Amino acid sequence: EEMEQLARAIERAGMPKDVRKEVYKQLKRLEGMHAESSEATVIRTYLDWMIELPWKKISRDRLDIKEAARILDEDHYDLTKVKDRILEYLSVRKLNPKMKGPILCFVGPPGVGKTSLGRSIARSLGRKFHRMSLGGMRDEAEIRGHRRTYIGSMPGRIVQALKLCGKRNPVIMLDEIDKLGSDFRGDPSSALLEVLDPEQNNSFTDHYLNVPFDLSKVMFICTANVLDTIPQPLLDRMEVIRIPGYTEQEKVTIAERYIVPRQAKDNGLKEGELELGEGVLSRIIREYTSEAGLRNLEREVGSVCRKMARKKAEDEAGPYVVSTENLHTILGVPRFLEDETEPDLPPGVALGLAWTPVGGETLHVEVTTMPGKGKLLLTGKLGDVMKESAQAALSFARAHAGEYGIDPSFTENRDIHVHVPAGATPKDGPSAGVTLVTALISALTETPVRPDLVMTGEISLRGRVLPVGGIKEKILAAVAKGMKHALIPAQNNKDLQDIPEELRKRIQIELVERVEEIWPKAK
Ligand code: ATP
Ligand code: MG
Repeated sequence: EEMEQLARAIERAGMPKDVRKEVYKQLKRLEGMHAESSEATVIRTYLDWMIELPWKKISRDRLDIKEAARILDEDHYDLTKVKDRILEYLSVRKLNPKMKGPILCFVGPPGVGKTSLGRSIARSLGRKFHRMSLGGMRDEAEIRGHRRTYIGSMPGRIVQALKLCGKRNPVIMLDEIDKLGSDFRGDPSSALLEVLDPEQNNSFTDHYLNVPFDLSKVMFICTANVLDTIPQPLLDRMEVIRIPGYTEQEKVTIAERYIVPRQAKDNGLKEGELELGEGVLSRIIREYTSEAGLRNLEREVGSVCRKMARKKAEDEAGPYVVSTENLHTILGVPRFLEDETEPDLPPGVALGLAWTPVGGETLHVEVTTMPGKGKLLLTGKLGDVMKESAQAALSFARAHAGEYGIDPSFTENRDIHVHVPAGATPKDGPSAGVTLVTALISALTETPVRPDLVMTGEISLRGRVLPVGGIKEKILAAVAKGMKHALIPAQNNKDLQDIPEELRKRIQIELVERVEEIWPKAK
């Protein structure tokens, strides 16, 4: 009787013919077994999986582009470029459903809306959404499952996700694809490659199921904080969409329109009961957060709302007003004090801009010289690329010593010490090149650099300033630190169009083509 029930369920599941054959084979084996044996249990679990997978179940796409645009706008402020790209993608799907679009990959610092955009896409298509974190995943079996050899073995995470969704065309978000690991248990990225490859993924074989499952209807979206750790073959399959981070004004607007109403509601406050104005939001952003995204802002607003909810619960009369006067009693001592730019920098110190996984950051480079034999000493958490930049900076200073009035014998009778304090996140990359040269010249000429100036750019041995990444993130960070001037490579000119007017008013950005142009602007 159990067998009949199973057979009926298998019939209903809508499996492809070959799969059904395999499943019936297993059913036959089960029939011949002692019902309580452990082998029978293994087979029964397998059959349950097979029956419950959405072989046929599919949700109909809502491909109404206007409606999709409305939903994206309802969930997210601004991000015009990103939304446009998503709508184009959906339009192509609508006009040519057979076309296998590229896999979108959202790249940006934490809390800029990557995950929530994915959710929004699913909502606008009327599909199920599933988020899967790949961070720290090292075992291929996590993607592809374990062979059915023992009682505890299970399908991999892709198949699990499909069962949870109950439809074979969900939006699956592969979060943190840049943090994928690999070790002796196999390389999950090669399994992922198969999952994401439109040529292969219509017959993806999970080790546990041991039959192909068609993933071609799944829409995969990836997210990452940085690109450089994503395996190249995976990256080749993806279309990268960058989400760089928000200005203070943008954050205030997002908070007013989205975060505050949501947090107030979640914490049981009705509309109009909470008063939390623009000025206070700016203060929260400046004094309690330091981030490109909105994660901590959301947390702090949540904490304000809980405190107000308590007042309400204790029957205190509303409205509950948060003002710049009572903010500190509510949230406690500010975590970040407004960064006054340092009044003066000592000779040998220059400020650069770095691009880290959590967004832009200012970077101090300190150079001191002392009597010695021309040794170059590097300390702080410098990566290899930055060490090479330091070498290049030294070669430049040596070659051009005369022009700066530097005694060229420094390479024989002085040691050079370059220090880059690590700060919260270790930094590496060639973009510190111009800052290293500037700090070096400043130290050798004993002339200080302007304290409100930041710079970024790679240098070539011939003294050209080469373009670098993350310009918008870097400018956001520079403005947040109160910097007034920024020098960026001339070849990054094209990136300036991404920088909002609001920021351009607060910092003067100059383009430089050659290293020689920097010093006159810096001192
Ligand atoms: P992580 O890298 O840490 O996973 P993330 O980019 O996935 O970060 P989300 O979790 O999507 O970030 O966003 C953080 C919060 O900020 C969410 O509550 C999201 O709704 C909100 N948010 C982000 N960007 C916007 C925006 N442009 N408009 C409205 N809300 C936004
Ligand atoms: Mg996320």
